[in-house]
Amino acid sequence: MKNSPYAERMKHVRPSAIRDLLKLGADPEIISFGGGYPDASLFPLDTLSSAFETAIRESGREALQYTVSNGIPRLRAQIAVRMGAEGVRCDADCVLILQGAQQGLDLVAKMLVDKDDLIVVEDPTFLGALAAFNPYEPTYATVPIDDQGIDMEALERTLRGHPEAKFIYTVPEFQNPTGVTLSLERRKTLIQLANKYDVLILEDTPYREIRFEGNSLPSLKSLDTEDRVIYLGSFSKILAPGLRLGWAVAPRPVIEHMTLLKLAADTQCNTLNMTAVSLFLERADVERHIEDIRKTYLRKKNLMLDTIRRSFPQEIAFTDPSGGMFTWLTFPDGFDAGEFMQAFSLPRAKVAYVPGAPFFAGRQKVNNARISYSTQTDEQIAKGSARLEFCSRNTCEA
Ligand code: PMP
Repeated sequence: MKNSPYAERMKHVRPSAIRDLLKLGADPEIISFGGGYPDASLFPLDTLSSAFETAIRESGREALQYTVSNGIPRLRAQIAVRMGAEGVRCDADCVLILQGAQQGLDLVAKMLVDKDDLIVVEDPTFLGALAAFNPYEPTYATVPIDDQGIDMEALERTLRGHPEAKFIYTVPEFQNPTGVTLSLERRKTLIQLANKYDVLILEDTPYREIRFEGNSLPSLKSLDTEDRVIYLGSFSKILAPGLRLGWAVAPRPVIEHMTLLKLAADTQCNTLNMTAVSLFLERADVERHIEDIRKTYLRKKNLMLDTIRRSFPQEIAFTDPSGGMFTWLTFPDGFDAGEFMQAFSLPRAKVAYVPGAPFFAGRQKVNNARISYSTQTDEQIAKGSARLEFCSRNTCEA
């Protein structure tokens, strides 16, 4: 037996510290603002169940059969139309149906990244993206973000200093973990910089449709002038994550490369799920359903932020997202949100959140927490945030 049977890349595959912490949150007494799950009471069960029934009854022989690796043509065409309505010109062949946006993160890295290649990421960034990229052994350059998204001067410095950068990974809407949205002006600058420094952009935007107020900003893909943007969307937040369906939109050659990798990885997405979702898009009032989701999360966000605004110690800063599922707390320097959770918030306040450190690909800051308001009921949000407030006040002032 060799010393280690595992490939070198497994050195970069680590269990997430967050999972261990959140396991502690399995205690039914604990109110968890940790997991980024959507509110299951919003799943459109009746419409989905009739879509599944129809799929089997009317086209079961196809819906339960293997299909093409890029996904059933009907669903790809529907996605192309939805993208078209947002100003992205594409046809069904520029769409690849994925096992959630998460699979897109993996396939893009597999397609583009050799060992030690450089990926530019937001600081902080989506932890699941780092988990997807890490096995390909990249290096990272981190670029700070503020309440308008990526700092463009810092990005330009980074791109100038790293002409070899493979791609810029960004979550431009209601970012996970901070809730921040990239401003229109910066979107335009980002495209200009990508063109100038000849780098690709991976736009990951599963929360895009969950905007509470104002108009949607143009996606980076819709502003793309040189076919540099690979766009990832998802049905997880507007329908149900257990369906495991998302999509990529990119120039045809890119989609073809990704499709080859998808074929090798898992052949195709679940045909029945794709058929049912296609029927859902065709027959349900999708916009009204999305409107319900928006209203629910807006109400929950307001509840959460009202308590934070009213009663948290002044020195705790927080973001006020205009969509999505997260707010990001910044505690004073020297405060360790992970230690605080283990020592106080879990055992005393019985409240869980996600400590911010693992969201930083470079130097990890310890004084942040990601709070998700999507899953808990209104009562639990009010109760949990009040308990957290009490606990943080007493400890902050200790
Ligand atoms: N990207 C981001 C920013 C996310 O927050 C998530 C899910 N939490 C994903 C991708 C993966 O989503 P999916 O369920 O579509 O795989």
